[in-house]
Amino acid sequence: MDGFDDVARFRADDDPQLVAASFACPVCLGLDGVARLLIERDDSEVECACVGCGTAWTVAVDPAQVMRLVLHPPTAEETRLRLLTPRMADAPWSQHRRAA
Ligand SMILES: [Zn+2]
Repeated sequence: MDGFDDVARFRADDDPQLVAASFACPVCLGLDGVARLLIERDDSEVECACVGCGTAWTVAVDPAQVMRLVLHPPTAEETRLRLLTPRMADAPWSQHRRAA
């Protein structure tokens, strides 16, 4: 598992604000960002982009964190993070499984 800029540090049952803080901008610490969850069989990650300074980075997430983000994502009412619909590439449950 390499190539990730950071690793998410929240638990599946943490508050929405703490979940969103895992995706705060590493440059300006801004919480106003866009995050896109990419689910892969082994290495799921969240691609983040900061609205304030334009920095882009990725955050690795473990299966429990993926489950939290899919089942109970931080909402716009709770946080400023905009989490986009997951693309379930190559996931066992995916409707869009790549041909082998
Ligand atoms: Zn920033």
